Amino acid sequence: MQKESCDILVIGAGPAGGVCASIAKISNPDKKIVVLREHEQQLVPCSIPYVFGNTLGTVENGLAPCGLPANMDIDSKVATVSDIDIKNKVAYYNDSEISFDKLVFATGSIPFVHESLQHSLDLEGVFTIAKNVELIKKLKDYSNEKQNIIVVGSGFIGIEIAMEFAGVGKNVTVVGGSEFILNRAFDSDIAQEAQKIVTDAGVKYIGSDRVVEIVDKNGDNIVNGVKLKSGRVVDADVVILATGYKPNTQLADKVGISLGHYGGIWVDDYMRTENLDIFAVGDCTARRGFISKAPSKVMLASTSAAEARVAGSSIYGIKYLKGMSGTISIFSTKIGDTVFASAGVTADKAEVKTNTTMIIGSFKGINRHPAKMPGTREQYVKLIVSRYSGQVLGGQVIGGDEVGEIINLIGHIIESGKSVYSVMSMQVATQPMLTGAPTNYPLIMAAIMAIKEMES
Ligand SMILES: Cc1cc2nc3c(=O)[nH]c(=O)nc-3n(C[C@H](O)[C@H](O)[C@H](O)COP(=O)(O)OP(=O)(O)OC[C@H]3O[C@@H](n4cnc5c(N)ncnc54)[C@H](O)[C@@H]3O)c2cc1C
Repeated sequence: MQKESCDILVIGAGPAGGVCASIAKISNPDKKIVVLREHEQQLVPCSIPYVFGNTLGTVENGLAPCGLPANMDIDSKVATVSDIDIKNKVAYYNDSEISFDKLVFATGSIPFVHESLQHSLDLEGVFTIAKNVELIKKLKDYSNEKQNIIVVGSGFIGIEIAMEFAGVGKNVTVVGGSEFILNRAFDSDIAQEAQKIVTDAGVKYIGSDRVVEIVDKNGDNIVNGVKLKSGRVVDADVVILATGYKPNTQLADKVGISLGHYGGIWVDDYMRTENLDIFAVGDCTARRGFISKAPSKVMLASTSAAEARVAGSSIYGIKYLKGMSGTISIFSTKIGDTVFASAGVTADKAEVKTNTTMIIGSFKGINRHPAKMPGTREQYVKLIVSRYSGQVLGGQVIGGDEVGEIINLIGHIIESGKSVYSVMSMQVATQPMLTGAPTNYPLIMAAIMAIKEMES
């Protein structure tokens, strides 16, 4: 057996593992850091939907080191860790062992499939969206030969995949289980706009019904469609289950690391487990909502990377008093030519989640000025605001590509506890070819609308 030692061992090199190793190296240049990762090649997970259509075209175009540090003197090996002796600080992989001083679990997440459908995963033509090059290639090759595709799940992953397949002429049906698509991230008024673009692109949406069975009517182990709760059967050659992810914590559980809600590894605000020499980052952790502080199932590469930066800089002592005080559900997606983005709580759920009374400030403006400037399009900003403190609890934006960054600004406003009064007097850069007008900047105007509501 080969033996080696290091100061910091990171298990997993997805967005969280790679970023954690890099920041740990920057914070501790003299420490030896080793990253063990299961696969030689990996896909940028967020790019997976785009390999099925014309956007990326091939699985190879979605490949990238994804956060793996280049030229940073970090040792990265392809190895699956099978066991860990926590007391003696030794991890085992293949025929080797490696001792460590500090350990980081960054083992990510795996597809979640409801137990009633799990037995159908063996049927030919049934797929999940695993973050695995071989399995994604298998789905791409299989679907190339087929025409009728059902996507189960109307979250952003299901919708992005459906749109890509529709774009290459497949008959796509999404079964969502909710009246509108993207219902966790958007209020129904915004979700309806997204849904219209999706259905106009030819994707059929079955909202208020759900899949109860995957059908193999000939008994030949090849899928033929799905059966819905209403009894309706929808035919298909390919069924894709985009029904969420669960923390990959089998190894952590086996070696006695405490788990929290939804099976994630329990961590404190600095991403430390109960054992202060062991950290966990990314989708494998138990998360809580930033505002509600309630258990959260949100899994995002962006917030995983934020956790990884906190852990990486805290590994040999807390360097910055900036922990993770909860996950902000923050994401954006492009549907057709329109960007939809959301951060924090939605108005439909804010009262329930935060138990505060909230108000809404919204404004429909434009992204250039004056309106005759080339590239002008509508920009709609909706802010969800605490009536009593004026703090921004959530925001949703629709518009052009710049919305992908506007939502990040809103995320920061939420995270730093800023009120609509701060947003109203925010100093911004405006320029005719680049932004809305200084007099009518949509984000600021939405804050003003909220203030008007608060003061009425
Ligand atoms: C199709 C799709 C689209 C997405 N789009 C977005 C998006 O647009 N924006 C966004 O923010 N998020 C998006 N996400 C979510 C995002 O991909 C995840 O939140 C992110 O991958 C989590 O990163 P992670 O490093 O924690 O885990 P993972 O990416 O799951 O990586 C964990 C790694 O650990 C390795 N590993 C596990 N066990 C072991 C072991 N025992 N030994 C060695 N290695 C091990 C795994 O092989 C894997 O490489 C998307 C996810 C999917 C699936």
